[in-house]
Amino acid sequence: MRGWIWPLAIVAILAGAAAAAFHFRADIATSLVARAAQSGLSANLPRSLPDGLHAAFCGTGSPLPDRSRAGPCLTVIAGERVFVFDAGEGAAETISLMGIPQGDIEAVFLTHLHSDHFDGLAPLALQHWAAASATQPMLVVGPTGTLRVTAGLNEAYGIDSSYRAAHHGPEIMPPGGAGMRAQEFTIPAADGEMITLVDDGGVRILAFRVDHAPADAVGYRIEYGGRSIVISGDTARSQSLAMAAQGADLLVHEVIAPELDRIMHDAADASGRENVAVIFTDIMDYHTSPEDAGAVAAEAQVGALALTHFLPQTPIPGLVEVFVRDARRTYDGPIYAMRDGDVISLPSAGGIRRSHQLRF
Ligand SMILES: [Zn+2]
Ligand SMILES: [Zn+2]
Repeated sequence: MRGWIWPLAIVAILAGAAAAAFHFRADIATSLVARAAQSGLSANLPRSLPDGLHAAFCGTGSPLPDRSRAGPCLTVIAGERVFVFDAGEGAAETISLMGIPQGDIEAVFLTHLHSDHFDGLAPLALQHWAAASATQPMLVVGPTGTLRVTAGLNEAYGIDSSYRAAHHGPEIMPPGGAGMRAQEFTIPAADGEMITLVDDGGVRILAFRVDHAPADAVGYRIEYGGRSIVISGDTARSQSLAMAAQGADLLVHEVIAPELDRIMHDAADASGRENVAVIFTDIMDYHTSPEDAGAVAAEAQVGALALTHFLPQTPIPGLVEVFVRDARRTYDGPIYAMRDGDVISLPSAGGIRRSHQLRF
């Protein structure tokens, strides 16, 4: 009988310890969150980065479902100035988790008016208002039609804005700071022609046409501190983009992998979902294969290529390597497959560095 006593005693001690540990978990988590809350609320990514131009990836997804990727969004930090390019679903949340103060967003630039590129605008405008008690609505700059989009969103969110202003008071939520104000521009007609949208304090932001018919779409070139980033927006392989991206330090390019798109098409077809199969065929028309994105990067002689807006979705680890492998066939510079929370830094002093800045 004695042989049973020690094992039973050990089991009892372990069970007691587990129960105690279970009870203490709440205390431990509470003390951890107290520290995390402090560091989260005092985080300021732009101030923690060296002077230069930085591409902060606040959304690397597409309209296809992927829990690990927010909708299209790129925050560009030029010195301490903050500009956002597209705001897809989940963008505001990712910007917040990256420690980028939403109240500091000077403007949001839209590449085109497909909804996956602006369906995160309203939450971002709310954060822009609430985070810094903004007295001016968030500025949204985009091609013709941007005014209609922002007017519609302002209307849809008007009731919510009135509740928040009434609840917190005009000092915390100034009524004039709710929603968005729009500024439209006409897309240049010729390939490679650029329209200047910002040119002050050493920052230049230019727009140029890309090929995403039937949508009217632009890409952007941002310059600061002797460094430059070019954003493709959504486009089929574009000569205009190759011209506008000449000599840029970083080209951020959307991608669709034909091999993976075909798998999705065939799966939809085999499941009897013919309409979805047709969509997987159609989207090949107006996006760019990684091989072509690499060719554009090579033609423009850019310093590095960052792939984003992954089509189709990439739910399996390692699947992004398909995109990198294909781009490698045509471009021999650095190629990055971006994740939400990644930052590519181009310090004024030179060099290029990738870091990950997503907090939880
Ligand atoms: Zn898109
Ligand atoms: Zn699009």
